[in-house]
Amino acid sequence: MKQFLLLFILALFLCSCAGTSDLAVHAPGKPAHHLADGHFINIDTSVAPIRDTMELDSLVPTHRTKVYRLPIARGNEELWIDSTISTATWIGHGTYYIMWKGYGILADPIFSDRASPVQLFGPKRGTPPGRALDSLPVVNLVIISHDHYDHLDKGSIKKIYKKWPQTTFAVPLKVAEILEDWGIPRKNIIELDWWQSASAGPLKLTFVPCHHLSRRGAFKSSTNSTLWGSWILERPVEQSADSAATSATQKIWFAGDLAMGDGSYYKQIFEKFGPVDVAFLPIGSYKPSRYTRVHVSPRQAAQLHLIMQSRQSLAMHWGDFGMVYDRLEDPPKDLARARKELSIPDSSFTVPVHGEIVQILK
Ligand SMILES: [Zn+2]
Ligand SMILES: [Zn+2]
Repeated sequence: MKQFLLLFILALFLCSCAGTSDLAVHAPGKPAHHLADGHFINIDTSVAPIRDTMELDSLVPTHRTKVYRLPIARGNEELWIDSTISTATWIGHGTYYIMWKGYGILADPIFSDRASPVQLFGPKRGTPPGRALDSLPVVNLVIISHDHYDHLDKGSIKKIYKKWPQTTFAVPLKVAEILEDWGIPRKNIIELDWWQSASAGPLKLTFVPCHHLSRRGAFKSSTNSTLWGSWILERPVEQSADSAATSATQKIWFAGDLAMGDGSYYKQIFEKFGPVDVAFLPIGSYKPSRYTRVHVSPRQAAQLHLIMQSRQSLAMHWGDFGMVYDRLEDPPKDLARARKELSIPDSSFTVPVHGEIVQILK
C-alpha cells in the first residue's frame, strides 16, 4: 500500500512526464516562450531520446533507485570565513553553498528529509545534508532554478529567511508569489524572465534558459505555469592598478535542472557569457534514457562542460533522492567514463563528497 501511495505521489509531483499542449498559442508582444494562457514553453527543439526500455518498466517501484548513506566530509570550515578566497560546498542533491569572497549564496536549497509537498511521504534522502543550515556562516542570496519540490523547498526557504532576514531570493518568473505565500517579503525577492539581469550585493545575476519544465501541485494545469531556467552570476575582479585586465569579471553558471534539448540554449548562453569560470552541472536521474527529455546524462553534462568552456565544473543532482532508475553509484562512474572519452581532465569536472568544501575561482 505504501508503495502505491508513493507511486501516486511521485506520478503527481515529479518532473518526469509533462508535456506542453500542441495547441499552445503565443502571448502577443511577449518573448516566444510566453503563452497566451500565462504558461511557458521551451523554444528549442526537443530531441527524442532512444527508448532503451519499455515505459512500463519504470512503473515498478522496487526498481527505483535505492538510496543509501554516502560519506560526509568534515573540516576546512575556516575557508568559509576567509574573505580572500571562494569555495563551493555540496550540501546534497542540487544544493550548493557558494561562498564567494565573503558573500554567501545558497543554490536550490533543500535541507528537508523529503523532496515532497509533505514530509510524511515522497522521495526520502539517504544521506543527511552535507552541512546543516545552522552551521553556515551567512546566506546573503538564494537562487532558485524552478519550482519542482526537490529544488524549491518550503521548509528550507522559511528557515533561511528566519535566520537571515536580509537574504535576497532570486527566482524565475511567477515563483515570487509562492515565496510571498510563505511569508517572504516582496522587497527580498528578485523575479526574472529569461535573459533579464539584476544586482544582488556585489553580483550581477542573469536568469538564462534551459530545457526543462515546472510543476508544483496535483493539477496538470500547474505544469509550466511558472518559469524554469539557470543562473549566470558575475562579479568584477578586483585588480591592482598595474595588472593586465584580461578578464574583468568572474562568472559562475548554476545550471539547475536541465536536459540537453537541441543544445541551442547553451550555445546562446556561451555566446553571451562564455567561457565560465565555474559550472555547477547535474549528473543524475537519467535512466532509463526517456528521462533525458528532462535531465542530462553524465555524458551530456560533460558535453555542457565543453560547450561552456568551463574552467572548473562541479557535479550535483545525484546521490540523495531515489527519483528515477539510475543506481546511486551510476552517475560518478558514468561521468568518469565520459571524461575519458571526451578527453576532459579529471580535475576539471569533479564530484565532491557531501559537505566537502572545494576551493573555486582560484
Ligand atoms: Zn526539475
Ligand atoms: Zn530535480
